[in-house]
Amino acid sequence: ITILAIETSCDETAASVVRNGYEVLSNVVNSQIESHKRFGGVVPEVASRHHVENITMVIEAAISEAHLTWEEIDAVAVTEGPGLIGALLVGINAAKALALAHDKPLIPVHHIAGHVYANHIEERLTFPMLALVISGGHTELVLMKGHMDFEVIGETRDDAVGEAYDKVARTIDLPYPGGPHVDRLAAEGEDVLDFPRPIMEGYDFSFSGLKSAVINKLHNLKQKGIAYKKEDVAASFQESVIDVLTEQTFKALEAYEINQLLICGGVAANRGIRSRMEQICEDKGVKLLIPPLNLCTDNAAMIGAAAYYEYSAGKFGAMNLNGRSNINL
Ligand code: ATP
Ligand code: MG
Ligand code: FE
Repeated sequence: ITILAIETSCDETAASVVRNGYEVLSNVVNSQIESHKRFGGVVPEVASRHHVENITMVIEAAISEAHLTWEEIDAVAVTEGPGLIGALLVGINAAKALALAHDKPLIPVHHIAGHVYANHIEERLTFPMLALVISGGHTELVLMKGHMDFEVIGETRDDAVGEAYDKVARTIDLPYPGGPHVDRLAAEGEDVLDFPRPIMEGYDFSFSGLKSAVINKLHNLKQKGIAYKKEDVAASFQESVIDVLTEQTFKALEAYEINQLLICGGVAANRGIRSRMEQICEDKGVKLLIPPLNLCTDNAAMIGAAAYYEYSAGKFGAMNLNGRSNINL
């Protein structure tokens, strides 16, 4: 089964052709980061306009790089949500038009299911497993007992991890998106600023207090004329984040007696998080799955991977499919 997948939920215009849920025949990502940088974040109207400008070219590139004709494509998959509504609609309208014109079924895919299935491309998922989703808009612990079977057992009550990274980055004047810059600086700094490690009861997360603690601390140091190193801010913030993520995740792994952990979403590209998780999983005898770096942030290959299981279950979308900025897994 060969699926053309389209992803336009945020600031990446992406298309990919994926066979049988894991064989990636092409994976084209057109990032708009340069356009949003000067605003310090994604501007929805600007994102929609870029998607409109690029979508046709990106889809054509994905099909031609896969060396396929439409006869060889079985379905068209597209991110239904969550995401920016105007951005989602560009991908959805393109997918509908192609499905109609070429008489192919349409497959709506949840963006976070896509992030989870980014892992499936390198190594097939096996169950039961626990997924830690850490992205720009989500921070969730998800229990999976089978394909496309998601039970959210914990989630953030306020900011997502990626959001906290981007906000902390802004307070130390790093460009958008700040996550990769904080990651880089953290490797050169030390955890000396003593930020809080908010551990919730159960498996929920909360990062807004940590974010505020960083902002307040820097404000106080500045007022007192005490110098600090950006590297130390990055390292201290990142260590707090890692402690919280690992603590909550391992609490859940123990409670559910699961020995497989999957980490996904843009923040899963973080070197500090990857290396600590690798180390702890090895100590605890837990199998760890993390997607390759280019599949952590938004792409359409992950949508094509998840779509294969929707196709197998016969879950198709109608021609009145709409974008949904907020949908649960
Ligand atoms: P969602 O998937 O929740 O809808 P999104 O699609 O905007 O949100 P992703 O594209 O999955 O989010 O991830 C983008 C986020 O990942 C940004 O917040 C970015 O700063 C963060 N990020 C990317 N690389 C790193 C890194 N190395 N360290 C920390 N954060 C990172
Ligand atoms: Mg993005
Ligand atoms: Fe994403």
